[in-house]
Parts: sequence; C-alpha cells; structure tokens
Amino acid sequence: MGKMIIAGNWKMNKDLDEAVQLVEKLKKGFKNKNKVEVVICPSFTNLSSVNEIVKDSDIKLGAQNMYTEEKGAYTGEISASMLKSVGCKYVIIGHSERRQYFNESNQFLNNKVKVAIENNLTPIYCVGETLEQREAGKVEKVIKEQVSEGLKDISADDLKKIVIAYEPVWAIGTGKTATPQQANDVHVYIRKLLVSMTSEAVAEQISILYGGSVTPETSNELMGKSDIDGALVGGASLKADSFADIINY
Ligand code: PEP
Repeated sequence: MGKMIIAGNWKMNKDLDEAVQLVEKLKKGFKNKNKVEVVICPSFTNLSSVNEIVKDSDIKLGAQNMYTEEKGAYTGEISASMLKSVGCKYVIIGHSERRQYFNESNQFLNNKVKVAIENNLTPIYCVGETLEQREAGKVEKVIKEQVSEGLKDISADDLKKIVIAYEPVWAIGTGKTATPQQANDVHVYIRKLLVSMTSEAVAEQISILYGGSVTPETSNELMGKSDIDGALVGGASLKADSFADIINY
C-alpha cells in the first residue's frame, strides 16, 4: 500500500471567485481524521489565490498540466518552476483528456514526468484504457505501454516519488464507475509492472489512485481494496459537500 491520497481535478471549471469560495468551504469541511493527503488541482489562473488559502492547511496544491521546458518562447505554456513558485506540490501528467485532445504521447509524457521530479513536484501520472480497448481484451497491453513508456529511464529512487492514477477512459465523466474488483485487478497489474521495473519494496510504496466517476457513494468501497491507494476525483470535487464526504471517509 502506498500513502492514501485523494486528489480533486477541477479541470476547466471555476472562475476566480468560485474557486476561492469552493476552497474556503473545503478547508472548513476537511477533518483529516484518517490523515489522508488531500490535493486540489484548480486551473492555472486560480493557483496563486487558492494557494493563499491552503498554504497553512493540510490541503496540498496541484496543477493539471505543465510543459517540459524551463522558460523561453513557448507561448501559452507553463513551466515546473512557475508551478512551484505559486505553491504547487503536485502536477497531473497525462490525463486522458490531454492524451485525447492534445495528442500527448507516452514519450512526451515521460519527459514531463522527469522534469516534474527534477523540480520536486510529485507527478500524478495517469493511465487508462478506452472502452474499445477494454472490449478488445487489450487492457493489460495498453496499461503496460503507458506505464513502461511513460516511466522509462526513471531510477527506482525517483519512481518512489511518483503517484499513478488508473483512470479507465470509459469511466471518466460518464457516471460509469469501474467495479471495485475491476479497478483493483488493474491496480494489481500496475503494481506487478512496477515490481518488474524496480523491486517489490519500491513498488509497495508507490500510491496508485483510482479515477473515474468516483462519488461519496462509491469511494469507500473502492478505497477499501487492497491495491487502491486513494482517488483522483473530477466532477465530485467541484462541490464542497461531496468532496468533503469523500476525503473525510
Ligand atoms: C478525472 O477527471 O480525472 C475524473 C476522474 O473525472 P470524473 O470523476 O468526473 O469521472
């Protein structure tokens, strides 16, 4: 079991006032009785203001994406050091929406993961199959490619610093959650891959989160499974009450 982590991915939602209101409510509602690490990932424009609210609390800040270069003529991009400067500790890398709409490849994401680690940001590296791939019996093949290519040439010491999120694409934003058993089976497989890349001791320390239509109704059973070390939550993280129910499990 890795450390329990529950991360909220706000995606492209919430203007500044809405983001501030949401995080203030969340800060009041978070009891942290189980000492879970809670991470919220607002959009870039809200990071600095949200950081002012959470910086002295148990809630950690994360970004939803970053670029590989440190600085320069890359109009519209954001670097790892910029994220650090506004208080980010985590960064989501390779969300299926980035893979799908922005054509981010495993090779490109491998660079991002390395740059995040060099900058002391914890990457939440996302993997997951589409419905078509699942129905064609290709879950393990797809996951193996995403894990081995996306985490290529990263030392065991550095692999300890990453978090993996298994997010079946067919379960994201669709209301269809993988059953706890379906999810856990893939988590066990991911951990097996990590053992082959490092060692049992290292693989045991890596947190593997589940994401895909997680709600307060489904989160407990999912997180009770042997190899599920937390959740990456989209829709249900946009309402203080539902996210509080999930993080105060
Ligand atoms: C996500 O965006 O990572 C996600 C899992 O979204 P949702 O919870 O809305 O399915």
